Amino acid sequence: MSKRIAIVGGGAGGLHLGLYLLARGVQVTIHTDRRPEDYRTQRLLNTVAHHSITIARETELGVNHWPTEQYGYYCHYHHFGGEQPIFFRGDFKSASRAVDYRVYLPRLMQDFAERGGHIEYAELKADDVARVASAADLVVVCTGKGPLGQMFEHDAAHSPFDRPQRMLCVGLYKGVAEEPTRSVTMSVSPGQGELIDIPTLTFGGMAHALLMENVPGGDMEVLAKMRYEDNPRAFLDTVLEKLEKHHPTVYRRVDRKSFDLANSPNDLLQGGVTPTVRHTHVTLGGGKLAIALGDVQAIVDPLCGQGANIASHAAFVLGEEIVRQSIYDERFCETVDAKRRDRILGAARWTNLFLQPPSPELMQLIGTMSQDRALCDEFTDNFNRPEAQWDRLASPQRILAWIGEHRAPAALAA
Ligand SMILES: Cc1cc2nc3c(=O)[nH]c(=O)nc-3n(C[C@H](O)[C@H](O)[C@H](O)COP(=O)(O)OP(=O)(O)OC[C@H]3O[C@@H](n4cnc5c(N)ncnc54)[C@H](O)[C@@H]3O)c2cc1C
Repeated sequence: MSKRIAIVGGGAGGLHLGLYLLARGVQVTIHTDRRPEDYRTQRLLNTVAHHSITIARETELGVNHWPTEQYGYYCHYHHFGGEQPIFFRGDFKSASRAVDYRVYLPRLMQDFAERGGHIEYAELKADDVARVASAADLVVVCTGKGPLGQMFEHDAAHSPFDRPQRMLCVGLYKGVAEEPTRSVTMSVSPGQGELIDIPTLTFGGMAHALLMENVPGGDMEVLAKMRYEDNPRAFLDTVLEKLEKHHPTVYRRVDRKSFDLANSPNDLLQGGVTPTVRHTHVTLGGGKLAIALGDVQAIVDPLCGQGANIASHAAFVLGEEIVRQSIYDERFCETVDAKRRDRILGAARWTNLFLQPPSPELMQLIGTMSQDRALCDEFTDNFNRPEAQWDRLASPQRILAWIGEHRAPAALAA
């Protein structure tokens, strides 16, 4: 009899896992609360960039419907404000790409259903998970940031914050020109927060996701609370005023006359996320286990664009082990965790580091990157491998050693 896997949650993690297993003859049911047609009228869910490592998985799954030649971007521009502002570039080895998840997820649900995957629509509560488990060999819970994930215990050792570190105001906008090379701009306003500008495919074509990561209590926080619907002109004028003051390299590409949300008031999302890591499995009784995937296992602030990329990675690790093994017990969970943990914790720790005021060593790294393209290229491409980024950033000694490697040829020449 073929293996039966129940996946609760039809987001990036659940769909990548479901498609992976389906292609290997595993019987998969996804239980999720949203139908494909619901996404058209949903408020913006997030603004997700997939890096090339994730796009390669999509290609393997046969769901890369958005070729990077048409929709991708190739580099990061970094702007650090302050008394002596700096602006510099780092390139990826292969392009990244952002598609509005209200377009992306229903398309992958369609792929899953067309290939024989079964989807059941209902909002599940914790009790329902045990019921679902009784008809499956293993239950995977990947319901994102919602309450169901709380059935997995909070991992205090890896969750240093008890509240959001940034107040987010993120929207899809029109009226923003691109840099000559299609790119993401990461702009830092010291003490106030960051702005990440991501070229994104949404309903009706390309737009710009402006993800404003505002420090609580700072000058930009108001944007996380102001309601667009109350007075669109006042909202847009406030965004423009704050961009001009804090994120000038993005502001200079804005056409004030046409600047607005791309399609509708639904193109705006405000709030904050508390970075949280959870323990990875629970016992349900009857010898069955539920294992966590994606944001249920680790919620990271969107600052470094890692959550969905690590969810996809973890989905493939879990999928490989489900196919390779046949007993889904605690030992199974241990082997899965050993294979996905380094990347997940790498993303969480690196992001948490960048949410704090930078250390002198980190400032030195940023200054060196602004002068050394090869260093900045490596930093940029490491967005594909957060554990490699963390190898470089985990301690002041590591940061200084990394800077030193890039200074070595000049020192030798002297
Ligand atoms: C503003 C913002 C920007 C971001 N930018 C990036 C980025 O650039 N790169 C990146 O990699 N990540 C980014 N992320 C993070 C990314 O969105 C998440 O990490 C990713 O979507 C997690 O995938 P998931 O499958 O775990 O959960 P989700 O994608 O949230 O999917 C959860 C699924 O479960 C369903 N569900 C929820 N509750 C229930 C229930 N009780 N019963 C049944 N179904 C349920 C939902 O409908 C949904 O289908 C960003 C997040 C935000 C908020």
